[in-house]
Amino acid sequence: MDYTLAVVTGGNRGIGFEITRQLALHGLTVILTSRDIIAGEEATKILLEQGLKVVFHQLDIVDRESIDLFCAWVKEKYGGIDILINNAGVSYNTGSENSVECAEKVINTNYFGTKNMTKALIPLMRSSDEGARVVMVSSRLGRLNGRRNRIADVDLRQQLEDVESEDIIDTTMSKFLEQVKDGSWITGGWPQNNTDYSLSKLAVNAYTRLMARTLSERPEGQKIYINCCCPGWVKTAMTGWAGLTPPDEGADTPVWLALLSGQSTSGKFFAERREINF
Ligand code: NDP
Repeated sequence: MDYTLAVVTGGNRGIGFEITRQLALHGLTVILTSRDIIAGEEATKILLEQGLKVVFHQLDIVDRESIDLFCAWVKEKYGGIDILINNAGVSYNTGSENSVECAEKVINTNYFGTKNMTKALIPLMRSSDEGARVVMVSSRLGRLNGRRNRIADVDLRQQLEDVESEDIIDTTMSKFLEQVKDGSWITGGWPQNNTDYSLSKLAVNAYTRLMARTLSERPEGQKIYINCCCPGWVKTAMTGWAGLTPPDEGADTPVWLALLSGQSTSGKFFAERREINF
């Protein structure tokens, strides 16, 4: 595999740090990005001391200016990238809590931030025989067709599955956020477990399907494959360190997906290196 350059968002800690480390262990140069400069530089230093090729750049995925500055820097310094791992994300509920107090931030970061990053980086993805790769670190909680925790409205589920434009995803997020404001979200037929977070990841998954279809129209040699995955329930700050899977194992499927050789899988969902229905 000829991939040389990967970008990881939220690389300063948790699963993103491990994804960065493992991609670098495969010999890639990895741009570790972090919204906080000190945290990003400290994380990068740890990996440099292990002899890995890691470069730091600031990146806040909800800050348009930060995304633009990052892309301009990548273009000038490297010309383009081979792999983008959209890992950055937030959640403000642990365990069985289900407050939507931070719903706007959760949807803005996990869905809109991830979408804006993907759109900004796609023009910088290098042509290759294997195809460039985008990996969305999503969650099983956001599966459209899971038996539990799904949207009650069958028509809406169908529309989000056969999504033809991002409008339907954006409108669904707006509708949810309106209901959060007027308090009607509880009876709105939304996922019942970690509602705001689950919906943000459901939106990421729907967007992955849409982008896979759009990107499939690119000519041979300029293909970009985009897939989403669940890292498991991982022992990081996000789960209050309650998760069962260590971060290095959580990073395994995203890294495997990014480097998967000789395939053209796109628009699918993976967990533990296996495709699952979503
Ligand atoms: P952490 O909270 O440890 O790490 C989240 C990372 O995202 C941090 O680096 C954080 O930066 C960064 N981040 C948050 N907001 C932004 C932003 N606006 N711009 C740039 N970076 C940002 O969580 P995990 O490592 O567990 O989570 C990584 C991904 O895995 C997330 O997308 C999460 O939803 C997903 N996931 C995690 C699961 C788990 O069990 N842990 C289960 C399923 C999915 P900072 O340090 O500055 O806050």
